[in-house]
Amino acid sequence: MPLPFPAFKPCPCGSGRSYGVCCGPLHAGEREAATPEELMRSRYAAYALRDTGYVRRTWHPETCPPDLDLGDDDARYTGLTVHRAKGDEVTFTATLRVGGRTHRLRERSIFVRLDGRWVYVSGVTPGE
Ligand SMILES: [Zn+2]
Repeated sequence: MPLPFPAFKPCPCGSGRSYGVCCGPLHAGEREAATPEELMRSRYAAYALRDTGYVRRTWHPETCPPDLDLGDDDARYTGLTVHRAKGDEVTFTATLRVGGRTHRLRERSIFVRLDGRWVYVSGVTPGE
């Protein structure tokens, strides 16, 4: 499967590594994420690249919205900061621009292992 983004460019997840050695192989199905943090980063990069298929396949089937379609997402994903990754939880801030305005979304995401691979279950805003 061809990569949806040039392999030599910096990965959209903001790791500082090139896409071809960071989230690219995950998106291409060449390997699975080894940790919740790696999965979370690859999901952020998939949002940035409008890869609905990857976001779906890494979402727990019981909590994944049936009408998920990143095709009508008009946000530009401009940055990701992971604050804490421990056990099955990752706390992060995603920065995106919508209609010329910057939004910062802080979330604590919960992941679970399903059939031997990590999937996203749900997220809450820390402090709630
Ligand atoms: Zn990446």
